[in-house]
Amino acid sequence: MPLDAPFIAIVGAGPAGLAAAEILSAAGARVAVYDRMPSVARKFLMAGRGGLNLTHSEPLARFLTRYGKAAERLAPALEAFPPDALRQWALGLGEETFVGSSGRVFPLSFKASPLLRAWLARLSAQGVAFHLRHAFRGWSPSGAVLFDTPDGAVEEKADAVLLALGGASWPRLGSDGSWVEGLRAAGVPVNALSPSNMGVSIGWSEVFRARFAGTPLKRIALRFGKTVVRGEAVVTASGLEGGAIYALSADLRRALGHRSITLHLDLRPDLDEKALAARLAAAPVKASFSTVLAKHGGLAPVAANLVREVAGPARPDAAALARLIKALPLEVTGHAGLERAISTAGGIAWSAVGADYALCGLPAHLPPVFAAGEMLDWEAPTGGYLLQACFSTGRAAAEGIKARLNF
Ligand SMILES: Cc1cc2nc3c(=O)[nH]c(=O)nc-3n(C[C@H](O)[C@H](O)[C@H](O)COP(=O)(O)OP(=O)(O)OC[C@H]3O[C@@H](n4cnc5c(N)ncnc54)[C@H](O)[C@@H]3O)c2cc1C
Repeated sequence: MPLDAPFIAIVGAGPAGLAAAEILSAAGARVAVYDRMPSVARKFLMAGRGGLNLTHSEPLARFLTRYGKAAERLAPALEAFPPDALRQWALGLGEETFVGSSGRVFPLSFKASPLLRAWLARLSAQGVAFHLRHAFRGWSPSGAVLFDTPDGAVEEKADAVLLALGGASWPRLGSDGSWVEGLRAAGVPVNALSPSNMGVSIGWSEVFRARFAGTPLKRIALRFGKTVVRGEAVVTASGLEGGAIYALSADLRRALGHRSITLHLDLRPDLDEKALAARLAAAPVKASFSTVLAKHGGLAPVAANLVREVAGPARPDAAALARLIKALPLEVTGHAGLERAISTAGGIAWSAVGADYALCGLPAHLPPVFAAGEMLDWEAPTGGYLLQACFSTGRAAAEGIKARLNF
């Protein structure tokens, strides 16, 4: 690689940083990737434990709506590197993908490690250097990037810097949001980081918790306010988590800031209330409450016991019971913190991010600084939207750096 090629420092070896490293090294830059952890992409590997939901197959127009108010800002990056391109990219690294029944896209292997291995091999072949156990600490007076390492402080002078430090969920995987104060102090507005795609707290009885913590509630619908979400949830020791809950997480987080709230659970979303009441009314008078719920209500043990948790021991009449099964009220008293949330809401305010993903407002002695991935202020439900936005913004920031440095 020519020594006069531009030198780019990428801080953060998650999907956003690595996606940028791939584009920049392919374009002829000298690229070094720094990460505080002893190995790269730990959160990406953790996502692989759940099958690695890389992206989603729905039409792009619908896909974009998943990012709420950040959709407009993210659209150019997602249009330039859309879900189909991500699937092609994975295929190019030997990982064929498939569309699951919910429209979510996974690698056939259901794992992240083969994809990451092939990706790192490509990056090394393109000359990308990795510096692990390098914790970003800001900038020196001369504009060099400062790192703490086991061997002491290190300074790196770069032609451009990409920050891809992630959010603050699951901090033990490396991203802990410790960059927030430093960036704010340097003049970049950052909106408070808070949990997204997180579980909620519900005060289960001891008996219900002991018997059902860890049990999935399948084919349910959840209603909060006017929003209804179909899907699955999992009973936890302290409440509920899982896709259907996560899809409501932005609304729940906002509402829970002030008070406890009521979530309504439909345990038979495929049956209307009248038809369900007719089935329940056909139960023999002498049938036990459990039999009515299981046999006539068609409820799995976890769902039947949830109804009893709310209704108490006495069996309501068929109409009242149908109403309850279709809209079981659950009092939610709080939500999980960042340490257990899948992703992070908040981050670098879009007002400080140029269309090329360069940060505005930093002191003039710094080289151009760009940002990508979950450290920007957007959130989305689970379903592949998180990784897709990290890949797309990482690549968009790389294009921004190429244009700025003219290579
Ligand atoms: C359990 C779990 C499962 C998930 N499953 C999915 C899924 O199936 N599909 C999906 O779309 N999304 C999933 N996600 C979310 C997805 O993994 C993240 O959105 C994505 O990894 C964020 O990418 P990123 O590159 O922005 O940041 P990260 O992946 O967080 O990478 C940032 C990197 O920066 C490093 N870093 C942070 N601070 C410093 C510092 N001060 N100095 C140096 N280095 C630093 C970190 O060590 C890390 O390696 C999941 C998340 C979790 C927690």
